[in-house]
Formats: sequence, structure tokens, C-alpha cells
Amino acid sequence: MKTADVVLLGCGPVGALLANLLGQAGLRVEVFERDREIYALPRAVHFDGEVMRIFQAIGLAERIAQAARPSSQGMRFVNATGQTLMVRRGIDGPGPHGWAGNWYFHQPELEAILRDGLARFPNVTVHLGHEIADVDAIDAHFVVGCDGARSTVRRAIGSQQRDLGLHQPWLVVDLLCDPDSARVRALPDYTIQLCDPARPMTVVHVGGRRRRWEIMLMPGDDTARLTEPEIFWPMMARWLGPHDAVLERAAVYTFHSVVQEGWRRGRLLLAGDACHQTPPFLGQGMCAGMRDASNLAWKLAAVVRGESPDTLLDTYESERLPHVRTFIDLAVKLGAVLQETDPTAAAERDRRFAAGATLFDFPQPQLGPGDRIDAPPPVGMIFPQPRLVDGRLMDEAIGQRFAIVGDPALLAAERPDAVRLPGVGADWLAAHGLRAALLRPDRYIADIA
Ligand SMILES: Cc1cc2nc3c(=O)[nH]c(=O)nc-3n(C[C@H](O)[C@H](O)[C@H](O)COP(=O)(O)OP(=O)(O)OC[C@H]3O[C@@H](n4cnc5c(N)ncnc54)[C@H](O)[C@@H]3O)c2cc1C
Repeated sequence: MKTADVVLLGCGPVGALLANLLGQAGLRVEVFERDREIYALPRAVHFDGEVMRIFQAIGLAERIAQAARPSSQGMRFVNATGQTLMVRRGIDGPGPHGWAGNWYFHQPELEAILRDGLARFPNVTVHLGHEIADVDAIDAHFVVGCDGARSTVRRAIGSQQRDLGLHQPWLVVDLLCDPDSARVRALPDYTIQLCDPARPMTVVHVGGRRRRWEIMLMPGDDTARLTEPEIFWPMMARWLGPHDAVLERAAVYTFHSVVQEGWRRGRLLLAGDACHQTPPFLGQGMCAGMRDASNLAWKLAAVVRGESPDTLLDTYESERLPHVRTFIDLAVKLGAVLQETDPTAAAERDRRFAAGATLFDFPQPQLGPGDRIDAPPPVGMIFPQPRLVDGRLMDEAIGQRFAIVGDPALLAAERPDAVRLPGVGADWLAAHGLRAALLRPDRYIADIA
């Protein structure tokens, strides 16, 4: 017998979430993580309401909600003179997933909560400080590479990289701001994308005293010296000075837009940055990895338990790849607006928005063709999470199973492995002209009546 059902390479946010999902499903899981400590440099600061719903599925939403800042506000693309070009709308109150639509957080704190969550499962073992160089030597039914942008598992699979065109170095800094400073108090809570051709920037209120600046590198910048006070503070002059904040941490990253084709070969699979990378202009890179984990976990559990044929796992990439591409393609388009450094082209761009700002929302794509996903939307779309009359959120009543929601008269149909929730989602179903929906464990719609 294999010593593990699933071995995960990497305990970043995606590996840690997938280990929680698989641990909860009762699988024997071993996680190998190269580093002893959680990665300390600045990375993700935003996740959306659908991702909070996935945290709810592993019983950690309340803890994460205490560590994160919910926001009803969106993101504004503003030019150097203050003209608003585009707005990603915010969401008032609990959004369609039953949680605030936008959350801001400190990635190391989130990763620590996800890792602590693993202690609940005696069937999950984490080996820190343990790099895997040879995946062939792993004794497990399945091996998932959650091993980031330079994935070892991806090399073993031989995936093909598709370059989506955007590669640009940026300086990323977190500042701890003085709450008594008038300049700090004047900063907005919404996210700003400053479309200034002299120096594009992103400004985010992470939470508490912490704020994030992402600063595009320009020709002539000396990367090694950018955080020296005499170079750093003049770049920040529009916002803050050295009396308003201290620099907590900084890193230079090249933002990439790539997807891999080939997320599976036999028992080897990929999730997260190992199979896609996006520029962070939508705050969706990690979110996409979390959606990978949610899609893959129930399929792995069903195959390991012998409830589904192994071919179910082939639907993972076909469903997820077009979905994540929609987000990356939009991030690349937004990047073209934000990263314009030619003043003439920037002036032309600003004239295009002279009649008013363009409003947009996060994409809500349909999954690609896959497990029963062979019909037009709403099949393959995520089902919202209403509150039940007893006060619980819908997913709490279902658990990690299939469910049928909707018209009580139809729910008598045989489907022994599915929970039945008569009357639930009635408004949504009526709006779509439907009587019932079959929901998968990841809450995407498998079928409708
Ligand atoms: C500046 C910046 C801002 C961002 N902002 C956002 C945002 O606001 N919202 C958002 O959703 N995303 C954002 N992202 C993206 C997000 O940070 C990543 O998508 C996310 O960290 C990827 O998680 P992961 O678990 O797939 O990979 P990683 O976090 O890279 O984790 C991979 C892990 O695998 C380990 N590993 C690698 N190889 C091996 C091996 N051979 N054996 C054992 N272990 C191994 C590594 O040590 C690492 O811990 C941002 C990224 C950057 C750089």
C-alpha cells in the first residue's frame, strides 16, 4: 500500500489550503515544504468573497475574518491629474457568496492560519525544511505540485508554457503608517492605480497601520538603491514623507502573465503559481490558486475513495484553465492602461475616458468543458450562497458534498449522494427561469432543471 494518498510539494497558500481540504475529506496527506519559515516578503494583499467561501469550507473563515479587513470599496484607476479612468466596483454588504466581496490581508498571517488549521487533522503530516528534488521517488497515489512559479513537478510533467505578453519589474513595499498623521488619514480606503506615465503605482490599504505601495521600475532606476531614503521618499512625495511612515519590508518582482498547458500527467498534478501567473493588478493570483484547490480537492477525494473513475481528474485543467485565463487576460489589459509610460500615448488614453470612467466588476467566467460542464451558463457557474431560514449559510448545511437546491416538488428525484435543500436559492433560480440546480462540492453548478 502507498504510504500517502496525496503528497503535496509546497506549503504556500495553495498547498496549505489544499492540504486542509484533503485532510477534511479524510485522505492521508503528506506535505513537503522546502523552507522552515513562512515566506516573509510582501506578496498578496487581496482576496475575494468566493475565496472567503472556500475558507468557510475548511472551517477557518471566522479566524481569517478576524485577521483580514473586509471592504465594500473597489479600485480606481486615476491619472496624474486626478481624472478617474476606470473603476472596479465594490460590493455593499455580504455579496453573493455570503461574505464581503473584498478582503485585505497580510499574506504571512493568512498562511500561518492555514498551516495551524492542519493541526486538526491527524491524517495530514507537514515536513518543513524538506525540499523534494525527485518526484519519481515519492510513494503516493497522487503528487500535487503547489510548488510555485519554479515548480519541480511542472518540469516532471513537461507542461508547455504559454506567454500572455506582460513581464515588467516593480518595486513592492509595505509601510507601517502613523495613524495620527494627517497625510495618512487623508489616504483613501479604496485601492488606487495611479496611471502616471512618469511613474505608475498601486496603493492599497492592507489593514491597520499597514499600507502597500507597488511602484513600477523606470529606465535608469538603480534597483539596489531604490529603498535608500534619499531615493525612496521623493518617489513617495505625492502621498507621504518620512515622518508619516516607516518602511516595513520591500522586494523587487517581475510581474509575469503566463499559463501552463499540461496540469496533469498520470499521478502528477499542478495547482497555483505552478500552473499560472498573473500580474497583480486585479489582486487575483492567489485567488486563482485557491479556486484550483477547491476544484481539485473533491475530485481527488472521489477518485481516491473509488467513487469516481480516474478520468475525473482530467476535467481539472479543462475546467480551470479557461477560467483563470479570463482573469489574467483582464489583468494584462488593465496593465496596458496602468503601465503606459509614453506621455503622448497616456494623454490619448486619458481622452478616451474623457466622457466618464469605465465601470467594471471581477469577471464571473464559466468553467471550461469538464465534469458534466457541457451546457451554456448557468451550468459551470458558481452558485451563490444564501442564508437559510435557520440563519446558517447554505454551505454549512451541505458540507463537502453534492446538493440539489430549489423547487421542493422536483427534489424528490433520486440522487442518494446529494443533500436536498427545498426552497433554497429560489430567488436566484426564478431569476434564471429554473426550478432546481445540482451543485458540486465546490458549489459550481453541475446541472439544472
Ligand atoms: C507583489 C505581489 C502582489 C500580489 N498580490 C496579490 C493579491 O493581492 N491577491 C492575490 O490573490 N494574489 C496576489 N499575488 C500572487 C500570490 O502571492 C501568489 O499567487 C501566491 O503566493 C501563490 O501561492 P502558491 O502556493 O501557488 O505558491 P508559493 O506561494 O510560491 O508557494 C510555493 C511553495 O513551494 C515551496 N517549494 C518550491 N519548490 C519546492 C520543492 N521542490 N520541495 C518542497 N517545497 C517546495 C516554496 O518554498 C513555497 O513555499 C501577488 C504576488 C506578488 C508578487
